[in-house]
Amino acid sequence: MVASIHNVVIVGSGPAGLTAAIYAGRANLNPVVVDGIQPGGQLMITSDVENFPGFPDGIEGPELMDLMRRQAARFNTTFVEDEVTSVEVNKRPFKVNLGSTDPLYAHSVIIASGASARWIGIESEKRLQGRGVSACATCDGFFFREKVVAVVGGGDTAMEEASYLTRHASKVYLIHRRDAFRASKIMQDRCLSNPKIEVIYNSVVDEVLAAPGDTHVTGLRLKDTTSGSTRELPVDGLFIAIGHEPNTKIVRDILRTDDNGYLLHQPDSSYTDIPGVFVAGDVHDHHYRQAITAAGAGCMAAIDAERWLEAEAHDGKLAKSV
Ligand code: NAP
Repeated sequence: MVASIHNVVIVGSGPAGLTAAIYAGRANLNPVVVDGIQPGGQLMITSDVENFPGFPDGIEGPELMDLMRRQAARFNTTFVEDEVTSVEVNKRPFKVNLGSTDPLYAHSVIIASGASARWIGIESEKRLQGRGVSACATCDGFFFREKVVAVVGGGDTAMEEASYLTRHASKVYLIHRRDAFRASKIMQDRCLSNPKIEVIYNSVVDEVLAAPGDTHVTGLRLKDTTSGSTRELPVDGLFIAIGHEPNTKIVRDILRTDDNGYLLHQPDSSYTDIPGVFVAGDVHDHHYRQAITAAGAGCMAAIDAERWLEAEAHDGKLAKSV
């Protein structure tokens, strides 16, 4: 059987991937979206989204993703329920290898595989996600108005999250496993001089405590990393800020990354160093990391891909067969 060549294969189905699909679909490119291991991306574990324009009463993360998916489907997007294992770009058409189904061939590829928050790795943290445990202060801080919260981490993200949370919370504990922060001096100073922030050094979260029925978080069991002793700390919310991992495993050998592993692209565009491979969303952005910025980047990548495909077709450079 002769495999068909798709105009554009989009890797990832979060706000970046689905917005790219909507734009590519409306450009009659019949895009293919490979869902990945977490279809819908990080918003699938976010309860209320109140900062996505167009939803004055807020919207649940999974519902927002469902709407985006339906919008993409309306414009002839094909969804593939599989995971990309690698992308071969040494010859055209590009070959997108999948975990359990046949490879896809594509004239262009948009990498929108996102990033995953790093978690501590304890069972109670996972169980209480969306019920007081979060990895995004900008997304969920608002729900802790006049409440007591804790932030875990000692890098710039933790400082930034703790400072941000003081806008809403009455008190913010900053819990760090060592006695010195790795965050930049200026960000540390900002936190240390904030009267709402209390630092707890040499401590890790051993368990997240919850009300009966796990309805909401009530506190933390902290373990002292020097003495091993434990104690309980009453809090209403826990924000994990120990870094993010960009999901770049599939393209790590073919695309350039920065020191933190985020994909690099050319200035003011979604072009990578490989013509025909574009990038969008959290896989390249560790600065804004918002659904709306990812969606914007997805739009840019689809427009870039569309114009690139048009130029290649005009010059007769698109592959005729696999
Ligand atoms: P990071 O610099 O890697 O810091 C992660 C922090 O989490 C470290 O303090 C680390 O502790 C702690 N940690 C890691 N695993 C842990 C665990 N299992 N339990 C408890 N603590 C744990 O990550 P980041 O803060 O997300 O920053 C990533 C990059 O983005 C950095 O280059 C940062 O400068 C940049 N960034 C910049 C800004 C800004 O400039 N506005 C804002 C955010 C991020 P140890 O220190 O003990 O290793």
